Amino acid sequence: MTTYHGGQQIDDAQATLEQHAVSSANGLCRTCGVPGPCAAYERAAKAFALALRLPRRVPGVTQPHLIGARRSGELSWFERTN
Ligand SMILES: [Zn+2]
Repeated sequence: MTTYHGGQQIDDAQATLEQHAVSSANGLCRTCGVPGPCAAYERAAKAFALALRLPRRVPGVTQPHLIGARRSGELSWFERTN
């Protein structure tokens, strides 16, 4: 098997990103002709990121307190409120 997970998805997304690149000349999508990154570009960018499993930057989502990322024996501020 030479299939690798996400490969086709990445190829499709890459092609879409190239087709819908924003022209540096006039700031319009080369394919759709709308200003800035068009909906197709945004979708492809998202699919691309997901396929590559890029970390999403959601504040607090890693919940460091749950894995003990604090000095031992010391309650953190959010635990003291309980
Ligand atoms: Zn477009």
